Amino acid sequence: MWFTPNTLDDYGYVKGHYERRVARERKRKESGYYKAARKVNCLECGKEFTRLRKSGLYCTPRCGDNHRRKEKSKELYLPKPCLNCGIVFKPDRPRLNYCKYSCYRADYRKRKKVAGESYT
Ligand SMILES: [Zn+2]
Ligand SMILES: [Zn+2]
Repeated sequence: MWFTPNTLDDYGYVKGHYERRVARERKRKESGYYKAARKVNCLECGKEFTRLRKSGLYCTPRCGDNHRRKEKSKELYLPKPCLNCGIVFKPDRPRLNYCKYSCYRADYRKRKKVAGESYT
């Protein structure tokens, strides 16, 4: 659909949208939402900072990056069940899905066999 200047009738909707937003902001201010949300401790370094966005969790983007990287690597080394035998093992390198090499080989062969049916 091509928008012509006639569709500026939509302005009524846009205006209503804006008013709703203003009302919400006022409500938040009255309830102390902003005051409560302002001072938080950085999830990474623990330093207290004033957050600018509701979702702000870190004092700097760098702290956010560091934290996410740490969380991710923690996840990668979490004990998990071997995809072949089901034994829970601790991966000594990331993205390791099998407790030993022979399990990897066995599962690889299994997957190859059913490739035409379910495994994509
Ligand atoms: Zn920080
Ligand atoms: Zn295994």
